[in-house]
Amino acid sequence: MDLMLRLYNTLTREKAAFTPIQPKNVRIYACGPTVYDAAHIGNARPIIVFDLLFRLLRHLHGEAHVTYARNVTDVDDKINARAAERGITIRELTDGTLAAFHDDLRKLGVLMPEDVNVTGERPRFVEPRATDHIAEMVAIVERLVASGHAYVADDHVLFDVPSMSDYGALSKRPLDEMEAGARVEVAAYKRSCLDFVLWKPSKPGEPAWPSPGGIAVQGRPGWHIECSAMSWKHLGETFDIHAGGIDLIFPHHENEVAQSRCCFGTPVMANVWLHNGFLQVEGQKMSKSLGNFITLREVLKDWPGEVVRLAMLKTHYRQPIDWTLRGLEEASRMLDRWYATAGDAAPALAVPAAVLEPLLDDLNTAAALAEIHRLDDPATLRTGANLMGFLARTRSDREAATVAASGLDVAAVEALIEERLAARRAKDWAASDRIRGELAGMGVAVKDDKDGTTTWTVAT
Ligand code: AMP
Ligand code: ZN
Repeated sequence: MDLMLRLYNTLTREKAAFTPIQPKNVRIYACGPTVYDAAHIGNARPIIVFDLLFRLLRHLHGEAHVTYARNVTDVDDKINARAAERGITIRELTDGTLAAFHDDLRKLGVLMPEDVNVTGERPRFVEPRATDHIAEMVAIVERLVASGHAYVADDHVLFDVPSMSDYGALSKRPLDEMEAGARVEVAAYKRSCLDFVLWKPSKPGEPAWPSPGGIAVQGRPGWHIECSAMSWKHLGETFDIHAGGIDLIFPHHENEVAQSRCCFGTPVMANVWLHNGFLQVEGQKMSKSLGNFITLREVLKDWPGEVVRLAMLKTHYRQPIDWTLRGLEEASRMLDRWYATAGDAAPALAVPAAVLEPLLDDLNTAAALAEIHRLDDPATLRTGANLMGFLARTRSDREAATVAASGLDVAAVEALIEERLAARRAKDWAASDRIRGELAGMGVAVKDDKDGTTTWTVAT
């Protein structure tokens, strides 16, 4: 089988074979969440999609040969405002939000640093936080000022967009269009309306660090600079894949490219740029500002994380997803069938080609999931599902977890089952049916097997 992964690259607007710069260190960066408040399910989409890509790259290149950095934005206007409102530090606020987010991601079957990192080896998965990389940001800003790509004005440092001849190559926006967009409200200290903030002075009470560029007052970083700093620190000046939601192409990714390339004098920041489409509600992007969002927490109260993951991956990552109850119900039914087929079988040795091949074609998850659904062999099905982050548990484990989550009194259920068996032995069918009804009322489904045993499950 040809194991070549092909990816659609926003930079070239083409699908092409993926070749890592260093085969023994494939490097990927994904722009992560801004942790000022509970994440909505749209925020989970890039995390799930790029988790799948991370798993696939580990499968193709070897677990020790892939490095993944997914950052956390833990300083920005919204975070500062929210922390001030609550009278706590930004660290206290973001630590709390991040811990809750991590709990949710675990439920979604997303790999975490502690799942993949090996003590004594180069980290395979890092989750850098912006506030831990202020020194790197300052260093980049200083270099940009020194080389004439940035200037100081009114205690701000601004990136000088006209100093970069091919600014706009990623988003491919015509210059006049970008100018028209930027002209809405131009700060007086900007030389060009396209120039963007690298560093700004902190207002009283805001988090503040010593400023670069000889600025006397303390300040804080602009948004884009953090990703140039964190990707540099953890992946180097140039790396393989940079990923994020489609809304980040402009201005965020365009400006990251400008900062990194002008700082390091490199022809590209990352070779391949991947962007996921939006998760939508009635045709509109789910977002905090539109108020049409459902938090991940709310969804995970009603649905197992594995169902949410499947509902998300059923659509190709570049397409929009309309989030519906029907989609979740379908995903739930699919998973029931997989668990029933895979049972408690151990995984097979080889990943089924029918599942791997569509994934190699720009992560065609819809086709790969359909192939998994067709498999009848328990071990093969488990292996295909495992590759995509499903069926980490056996059927028995899943049933035990469902019982635990339901809060049922297991001893009371077992006693009723015994009572019913006794009634059946005495051919007291009326009593047997009555007890079955009682169990059903508790949410317990009873199944009499051909071998004379009776099993029970929590009805889902
Ligand atoms: P934010 O916390 O808004 O900075 O977003 C974190 C990540 O979630 C970014 O990669 C965004 O592109 C992505 N994102 C935000 N909203 C959606 C959505 N409705 N659908 C898909 N991705 C989204
Ligand atoms: Zn970023």
